[in-house]
Amino acid sequence: MTLLSNKVALVLVDVQYDFLETGTLPVPKSSEIIPVITKLMKLIKDNGGLIVATQDWHPDNHVSFASNHKDKLPFQSTIIYHQGIPVNQVLWPVHCVQNTHGAHIVDAIPSELIDYTVQKGLNHNVDSYSGFADNQYFEITKLAKILYQNHIETVIIVGLAADYCVKMTCLDAIKFGFKTILIKEATRSVNPDEFDSTMELLNSKGVIIAHAKDLAIA
Ligand SMILES: [Zn+2]
Repeated sequence: MTLLSNKVALVLVDVQYDFLETGTLPVPKSSEIIPVITKLMKLIKDNGGLIVATQDWHPDNHVSFASNHKDKLPFQSTIIYHQGIPVNQVLWPVHCVQNTHGAHIVDAIPSELIDYTVQKGLNHNVDSYSGFADNQYFEITKLAKILYQNHIETVIIVGLAADYCVKMTCLDAIKFGFKTILIKEATRSVNPDEFDSTMELLNSKGVIIAHAKDLAIA
């Protein structure tokens, strides 16, 4: 693959302590992706590309926390209303609360290579899986603007978790008109049983599912 250039951005989705195996919302085998991402970051930078990290950044009264709902447990679903519009919401353990250790991007990621950090999930009334917008598309983040202003044409997406935030970030990248590539070895699912079906869905929507070795970093 000879796509690396200054028109390529690497988007790191939510590589934060609470999503590691030791976090409050553990993604199985998530730490395995860190060295792959680190190599990819260096490769992108060596070729003049841009690196943007998203960061789940919730207030402690966030609607996605099961503990903020009466008689609900983590991983159950409920209907929430944002500005009067109902939406199904999976309820999660408390995670990525602003200014806590769990919300930090993991130290093994070389922060000096990150050009921009985009925080999401700040509005306590609505969840934000995608790095581009909240789940109801009432507000977009600065991610699309950053990519457009840096003349990015291709986004390579990695991070956590494949079946939620990575998936929705990939789908929005397609909607915003970017050639979108997901590196299979650089993402993991909260529900490992749903990894293959997530890859199939993304592929059917135009996301290129690539291997790390395709970018010469394996
Ligand atoms: Zn969250």
